Amino acid sequence: MPIIVQKFGGTSVANAEKIRRAASRAVAAFKKGNQVVVVASARGKQTDELIHDALEVNPNPPKREMDMLLSTGEQQTVSLFAMACWTAGEKAISFTGSQISMVTDDAHTKARIQSIGTERIKKKLSEGYIVIVAGFQGVDGEGDITTLGRGGSDTSAVALAAALGANLCEVYTDVDGIYTADPRKFPKAVKMDQISYDEILELASLGAGVMHGRSIEFGKKYNVTIHVRSSLNDNPGTLITHEVPKMEGILVSGATIQKELAKFSMIGVDNKPGNAAKIFSHLAKARVSVNDIIQTQVSPEKANISFTIHKSDLDSARAAIEDIREQVHCQNVFVQEDVAEVSIVGVGMRSQYGVADRMFQALADAQINIDSITTSEIRISCLVALEQGDTALTAVCQAFELDKPASKRS
Ligand code: ADP
Ligand code: ASP
Ligand code: MG
Repeated sequence: MPIIVQKFGGTSVANAEKIRRAASRAVAAFKKGNQVVVVASARGKQTDELIHDALEVNPNPPKREMDMLLSTGEQQTVSLFAMACWTAGEKAISFTGSQISMVTDDAHTKARIQSIGTERIKKKLSEGYIVIVAGFQGVDGEGDITTLGRGGSDTSAVALAAALGANLCEVYTDVDGIYTADPRKFPKAVKMDQISYDEILELASLGAGVMHGRSIEFGKKYNVTIHVRSSLNDNPGTLITHEVPKMEGILVSGATIQKELAKFSMIGVDNKPGNAAKIFSHLAKARVSVNDIIQTQVSPEKANISFTIHKSDLDSARAAIEDIREQVHCQNVFVQEDVAEVSIVGVGMRSQYGVADRMFQALADAQINIDSITTSEIRISCLVALEQGDTALTAVCQAFELDKPASKRS
């Protein structure tokens, strides 16, 4: 029997009625002859509320305790979801991450999945149960509960699909699919029928919260087709797949903005072998994930190094840089917290020219100054002032006609 994994995000299970509706989708897929595994998130805004509760008792809560607390949100949903399946007339059983051996490293609040035990799930599937698994959570080698980072249920779902050999993972959410830009920020954005793993991976890591970036890495590696679609209707959503030739004709597939960033500039670092390695291994030890890095030689003796990080790592990054700056003879450190990064992404950029200047011109026409520019083969990102971020996104979306379907763009 084919195995299908269905993931329901917070808004899709926000209350009893929505849980019943989601359960009826799982039951319908089961009745069609599939073995069904559901991965569910915490209800509505519950994860935000739990974070708020934590900060009320401790402004800097230990990360292990955060994970203990945050994982409870998903645990509530899965039991309710299983109950709703029973109401709909089918057998169902819920599991926490630890009950199915969703083993992760011990990086609390941003753990990475290392292995998944599938025996218990397979046994229950073969006995005719719909299996409901708590997303976002795992367990480390010590048996401590971990979580995978905000939005991490997507990764639980795709990783489970990969481990179970399911070739489809349906991601039910509150939008009709993946749009050319976040429709909350650029309301004229249009839905894409299809997007490549590489493009959505870039978009997700650059701020498009619709999918958790690591879920895409699993999908690409293990050939899981991901279908992102609405839990409110039956319209087809967006398929995330390997690249097909027609995608290359599309210059820019999507745009995104990342506002939760901080930029560090280390001025006058000694220009000698090993210094960049020292700085970034120190940041890695402090478990800071670094995004874009720019190093420039300013004289034979000195170089400037700047990099961006997620704001949630700000305190750890500050401490790590304070610790290492003397060793690399850094003359000055600046931290900018008021920046936003606007990016465009498209596999078509590989083979076509005239993309970068069009983006820069759009920003210039909107009177927006570019702080720094970084690129990859399939993306261009510009750092701008935070207060101009939304204007910059709109300008770029308009310049690349992201309010039109790809076939209608000039
Ligand atoms: P869920 O709780 O279902 O996981 P999320 O809030 O994590 O839902 O993700 C869905 C949201 O992602 C949408 O409501 C939308 O505002 C946002 N989003 C950001 N970028 C995009 C995009 N390119 N296309 C669609 N939605 C996007
Ligand atoms: N509940 C978690 C969060 O809000 C995980 C998820 O929704 O994917 O981040
Ligand atoms: Mg999400």
